Amino acid sequence: MAQLSVLTNEPRPEPAPERAADEVQRAFARLQQGFANERYPSLRTRLDRLTRLERALQRSSDDIVAALDADFRGRSRVESLMIALLLPILSLRHTRRRLSTWMKPEKVNPAWYLRPSSARIVRQPKGVVGVIAPWNYPVMLSVGPMIDALAAGNRVLLKPSELTPRIAEVLAAMLRETFAADEVAVVTGGVDVARAVSTLPLDHLVVTGSTRVGREVAMAAAPNLTPLTLELGGKSPAVVHESYSIERAAVRIGVARLFNAGQTCIAPDYAIVPHAKEQAFVDAYLRFVEKGFGDLATSRDYTAIATERHRDKLEEMLRDAEAKGARVVRADPRGTLAKRQPRMAPALVLDPKPGMLVMEEEIFGPILPVLTVASVEEAIAHINARPRPLAAYYFDDDAARAQDFVQRTHAGGVTLNDAALHFFNDELPFGGVGPSGMGAYHGFTGFKTFSHEKGVYQPGPSARLLRQPFPAVVEQALLALIHGGRSRRRR
Ligand code: NAD
Repeated sequence: MAQLSVLTNEPRPEPAPERAADEVQRAFARLQQGFANERYPSLRTRLDRLTRLERALQRSSDDIVAALDADFRGRSRVESLMIALLLPILSLRHTRRRLSTWMKPEKVNPAWYLRPSSARIVRQPKGVVGVIAPWNYPVMLSVGPMIDALAAGNRVLLKPSELTPRIAEVLAAMLRETFAADEVAVVTGGVDVARAVSTLPLDHLVVTGSTRVGREVAMAAAPNLTPLTLELGGKSPAVVHESYSIERAAVRIGVARLFNAGQTCIAPDYAIVPHAKEQAFVDAYLRFVEKGFGDLATSRDYTAIATERHRDKLEEMLRDAEAKGARVVRADPRGTLAKRQPRMAPALVLDPKPGMLVMEEEIFGPILPVLTVASVEEAIAHINARPRPLAAYYFDDDAARAQDFVQRTHAGGVTLNDAALHFFNDELPFGGVGPSGMGAYHGFTGFKTFSHEKGVYQPGPSARLLRQPFPAVVEQALLALIHGGRSRRRR
């Protein structure tokens, strides 16, 4: 059973595990009360919350980097600064700059037959938003949804991943110092705590995790009809057209695959290259690993695999691929990575076949299968025959072919001629499709996700035509409108 702590302004004793659900319930009740006291926070209040969050991240930056390093058993400092700190801070600044515009009621055209009248969309906070976060980017994927939810005027209940306990504690302490317990609460602990959160009658729940967990959460949320945003995973392909520089593609795919040692939901999960370019791709990828990281055992830019269980699973994927006839090329030219180190050498899997674990499951590590095809058509057919991924990447300088790829394949998002970078743009919605997720957030999309878009209508004098007894002219007008102004006999 998991341990749980709920944060309030006063230090609290650690509750007995069996009280986990009660404690989650109490934290939720406080947030609900907070929301009931302030159902439409002013721009000023929301900006203040966002500013406090930014200062908190700045204040805690050293603790965050250190906790990530400890939880990951060695994590690139630059990656931590970039993703755990800079990205949320840039999102906070983007949101603060635009919030007054987003909050304005949006005027829309009233139906022509009811003019003059007025119609507008009022975006109203939903209430208490739950955030269940994963371990791979534990700060960004906790704070990111929180930014959008707070901007939209909500209260937030966060459950960080149990697999990164030190960062969970740093986040919990940071948010306790920054927010009142009825503004933002953090519940830490194991899967039972996450389950307790998913069964609450939340006003919205955003979950970032695996497709399996997404399904379980959807079932747990069903009795309350809790609105869900599910940010899940999948196997994101990277397709290289024969006309595109294979060296450039290999480097860009390698950068995204090996960032955070591949523990990235939008990393390219496998590459699809023309038959004739396979060897050139392998050579360029290996050169990139050598140039990018040098000695993998000591490189400051290479991250470890977060847990022994995940590392074992990745090794099993490689053994399974080899046993089923694939060629595995390990990119550890200096051979410095001993088998049981928390770091794992990047590997390419050549001649991958359906049925191999590397082609059936999301890899989530520094392994890249390389599939070869005769044409982009074959690549598109391969992608469309499989579950819809979180992202897809296409390398081609021909804009018309790139557009065709975007239109004829399904994926949560796309980066062209590079990988993963669509995530960094707050003007773009971010989310999956089908088994890779539902709903989206980031920027204005996130503001809308965590708002109820309320249609508000104020009729003018013509509305009297819709009241009984209907004037005789109404029937004639209806017939004329239904038949497009032509007489029925002439039709
Ligand atoms: P996970 O699915 O194991 O766990 C995610 C969170 O869900 C954790 O906080 C966990 O406590 C909680 N959880 C587990 N079981 C639950 C249940 N039954 N009910 C409610 N909550 C439950 O995911 P993970 O291993 O932490 O992360 C890896 C997965 O997340 C990968 O599939 C990856 O692609 C995906 N991911 C997606 C995104 C995205 O933005 N779409 C980002 C990062 C990771």
